[in-house]
Amino acid sequence: MTEFRRDPHSGEWVTIAGSRQKRPALPDECPFCIGGLEAPESYSVMAFENRWPVMTPISKWGNLAPGSTETASLIDELRTSPLEWASGLTIDNAPYEAASAIGAAEVVLYTPEHEGSLGALADAQLEAVWNLWVERTAGLSSRQEIASVLIFENRGEEVGVTIHHPHCQIYAFPFVPPRQRQELEVAKARNRSDPSMKCVSCALAESESGGERLIAECESALAYVPYASAWPFAVHFMPRRHFGSITEMSTQEAAEMRGLMKRVLLAGDRIFDRPLPTMLAFLQAPTDGSDSANLWHMRIEVVSPMRKRGVLRYVAAAEVSSGTFANPVTPEDAARLWRDALGGGA
Ligand SMILES: [Zn+2]
Ligand SMILES: [Zn+2]
Repeated sequence: MTEFRRDPHSGEWVTIAGSRQKRPALPDECPFCIGGLEAPESYSVMAFENRWPVMTPISKWGNLAPGSTETASLIDELRTSPLEWASGLTIDNAPYEAASAIGAAEVVLYTPEHEGSLGALADAQLEAVWNLWVERTAGLSSRQEIASVLIFENRGEEVGVTIHHPHCQIYAFPFVPPRQRQELEVAKARNRSDPSMKCVSCALAESESGGERLIAECESALAYVPYASAWPFAVHFMPRRHFGSITEMSTQEAAEMRGLMKRVLLAGDRIFDRPLPTMLAFLQAPTDGSDSANLWHMRIEVVSPMRKRGVLRYVAAAEVSSGTFANPVTPEDAARLWRDALGGGA
């Protein structure tokens, strides 16, 4: 079982998951093809718990019963913000603090076909994947201990993919992770200063429409390179309507978003005439019951470490140590290249 350890300097949790070193790297036999280790029976799409999880559901811990006082106090402790921690939470062996890594880590298989990508799935197959994402988001969100559900996909060995079969993963955190918490703080401050002000994503959905960073748009959503992108090639898929998660989308909105994603992701592979290594994530509202959750505006984010043909950008010393990123490609240039790859179909 894995554990969370609190970084004594930052107050943020780090998952220590030594068991993940045992998982196979680029195995000879694909575990996701039908007949493989994880897929003994035939399937169309499938979700299952990761065999090497970074977080484990409460039901597997034995000593943690759902709804018990111990569980509730563990959840409280995990969600205590670093500022409160600094101001005097007593810890048995200060400055060290660790907790059971409760949560969930699941794998979603897009297709029984070994070759392919999210953008290249047939419409009906992508719809089946989408419906499974909705179902898993709803299922995980309903658990007492879950505060944030993150659907994410790594694509390409450049970003550490160990199995090429088209799939993504879902992490369900028992706390709101730091980046999301920081964005929520910004949203709360904006809302405090003027409750009638639009959420920043609603404002961006208006201002990026038809602009120089736009890649493509449709009736209910748009895809653009973010203004202050930390990555050379990045896209925000932004719904125009304000809602917090994939479970709240209408059938029409979901179909349009899938169409937009397919066009933009496939175009991404034409920018450098090779599959674009990417990290994709659905950033969804926290599910911890906090009243700020309704300030969250769902978006899908894709970032790529490619900076030009055959050249990867590495996150290096200054960025790792300062937390301030330097991007060698202007977002406006990246958007132009992406639009060119789309072939003027925006
Ligand atoms: Zn396979
Ligand atoms: Zn909004």
